[in-house]
Amino acid sequence: MARPGNTTRGAKSPSSPPAVPVDAICERLGARWPDARCELDHTNAFELLCATILAAQSTDRLVNTVTPALFKHWPDARALAAAPQDELEHAVHSTGFFRMKARHLLGMARALVERHDGEVPADMDALCALPGVARKTANVILGTVFGKDEGVVVDTHVARLSQRLGLTRETDPAKIEKDLMARLPKEQWRPFADRLIWHGRRVCFAKQPACGLCDLAPMCPSADVPGRVAEAAPEEKKGKGKGKGKGKGKGKAKKPAVKKR
Ligand code: SF4
Repeated sequence: MARPGNTTRGAKSPSSPPAVPVDAICERLGARWPDARCELDHTNAFELLCATILAAQSTDRLVNTVTPALFKHWPDARALAAAPQDELEHAVHSTGFFRMKARHLLGMARALVERHDGEVPADMDALCALPGVARKTANVILGTVFGKDEGVVVDTHVARLSQRLGLTRETDPAKIEKDLMARLPKEQWRPFADRLIWHGRRVCFAKQPACGLCDLAPMCPSADVPGRVAEAAPEEKKGKGKGKGKGKGKGKAKKPAVKKR
């Protein structure tokens, strides 16, 4: 049972992730990162779509160094659709996987021209049908540009932090998104993802999370803060000794994947 004052969601069946104080996590993230937003520079849906495609296996900061020249040269879908592949490869070279990304940009632009009169559709299925666009990218576009909350953006930070916070036991992004959609109130889907991404970039690092500086530490089952006991995961305490779910992100509060300080 949840502790008084902790609003919990989930944990409806033995296979569900443990109950965690979702509302408290949202509240603390909101207080810590009130201005969190997508960090890819853009002025419209087309630019954000290009930038999001380029951000795969890269960083927003690096993508932001490439896109000003890209958008100046090819400002819209019609211009980009006519771009020579080799010129496009050269333009996006520094973001990595440049051949594949140039192919995706060209395919996406041509599909926009052919299917959507050059405009970016505000529709999940139509977006996901574009070359180089999967659900994560579609969620970014729908939420950031069109203000439509149809899902939760699950990038590497959201995936990692959701596991550490006990919000999911899954590793597949689609399943993680499903868990988060079930646990979070809909109005939190977008701000939660933006804030979790900021938290992952600035505090809960992949290799050495700064748990000692983390506002979520009191409720994080993975926190590496000496002497503390997580407020969250009461279900885990009840289930202690069951001996299952020893894999990453599964079962009782896992040993933090962090170095001792
Ligand atoms: S307490 Fe540590 S592991 Fe948990 S969210 Fe904060 S930084 Fe990440």
